[in-house]
Amino acid sequence: MSTRTGPQHYPGAHRDHWYQSTFGGDRMEVNAVVLHTTEGRSLPDYQGGANAPNLTAVPDFGAKRLRWYQHFDIDVSSRALVNLRGGVETNTLNVCQVELVGTCDPERHTKWGTGEPAHIYWPQAPEWALRGVARYLAWMHIHHDVPLRGPALWPPYPRSSGNGGGQRMSFQRWNAFRGVCGHMHVPENTHGDPGAIDFEQLLDYAKSAAQD
Ligand SMILES: [Zn+2]
Repeated sequence: MSTRTGPQHYPGAHRDHWYQSTFGGDRMEVNAVVLHTTEGRSLPDYQGGANAPNLTAVPDFGAKRLRWYQHFDIDVSSRALVNLRGGVETNTLNVCQVELVGTCDPERHTKWGTGEPAHIYWPQAPEWALRGVARYLAWMHIHHDVPLRGPALWPPYPRSSGNGGGQRMSFQRWNAFRGVCGHMHVPENTHGDPGAIDFEQLLDYAKSAAQD
């Protein structure tokens, strides 16, 4: 199978937090996107890139848009998933990973309130933020053939932790998966992000962006 076909840099993404030269990564042909939330309010350092995704989306509330930072090529494995010995592959199983800056945790959302810096509570993301993610998904669909579909269950955090919402994929399902899912769907992982993001709306926006 050929690898690394299609454009490797998301247009407009900053590459001044680039970790591929330090960590290398496996060459892949991406067929899935995994969404995370950072549970913070600014671009993380990812321990110098040791647990970085392919891309991070940082909200710019003034401009009402997402600022994208790319850390690895699209078709190169990144590092934000747990991968246990044995079982299935995770980071290297043809996934492009995106960290959305903000939270999926209602308690953290309440604690941060209207304080500065402002934050996105992803289950109630503003339309401009959801559309920003959707445009990226449309680009992944057009240039990397990632299907605009995904799991039916997106339970809210903290129920989504472990497999509290019954949402996590079996090894078999994960190995066959093509499309868009969350960290909370990936086996060998226990994190519950991105919780109850409005996945149906996100896909609708992505499908309409793919037709523009
Ligand atoms: Zn995550």
